[in-house]
Amino acid sequence: MTYHALVPAAGGGTRLGAGLPKQYVPLCGQPLLRHALTTLCAVPAIARVFVVLAPDDPYWDRYDWSDLGKLAVLRCGGQTRASSVCAGLRAMVAQVRADDWVLVHDAARPCLRVAQVERLIDEVGNDRVGGLLATPLADTLKRGECREGVARVTATVPREDLWQAQTPQMFRHAMLLHALEYAPAVTDEASALEALGLRPLLVAADASNLKVTWPGDLILAEAILFARQRAAGAPG
Ligand code: C5P
Repeated sequence: MTYHALVPAAGGGTRLGAGLPKQYVPLCGQPLLRHALTTLCAVPAIARVFVVLAPDDPYWDRYDWSDLGKLAVLRCGGQTRASSVCAGLRAMVAQVRADDWVLVHDAARPCLRVAQVERLIDEVGNDRVGGLLATPLADTLKRGECREGVARVTATVPREDLWQAQTPQMFRHAMLLHALEYAPAVTDEASALEALGLRPLLVAADASNLKVTWPGDLILAEAILFARQRAAGAPG
């Protein structure tokens, strides 16, 4: 089996309020995006790591990526995450086979570990559909309604059987492209497969694989990465 990674990195990431796209915000001295790319390139099973950038991205070329030998850059990002992934899948087509696995991973999840990726690959195995990393929900969930700037609870959503989807999400190239063309308005790949009536596998992950969205997430991600560096005996 052949595995590729596809990293959509064409978003604006304005919720972070950093003045530059989220994927380039510095985190532990590197652009945010570099952390996930380094991890994916370090997974021996992954043949290539495709990065989808916005066509007019002026930032990528300001950094040296030459140590990440498996990278392939695709400047074909779209207006939404799903359209960026879909454009990336189309651009890859000459370099992959229809049944190759593609692991789609958010550029904005810098704390991904090699072991988590290998667990996903292992547990999905030769599954007919594919699967994703996810965490069983721990908090009580409230539905809220905001009126005149004040939010109030309208309902409590039972959390039994609820999972929080993460990435990577891995599916076969042709099946994923077909699913995203069929259901283009999704916020993750699994939803597109679900729209076809398929049921992706949930592979338990931990909360450290967080997505950086708000300024506080950056502090949390930095703390996780520094703690790992300390545990590994590296300076810092
Ligand atoms: O904005 P959000 O955190 O949901 O984005 C998730 C991922 O999708 C990020 O890696 C972001 O760069 C990417 N994205 C993209 N193209 C877009 C919007 C988001 O590649 N138009």
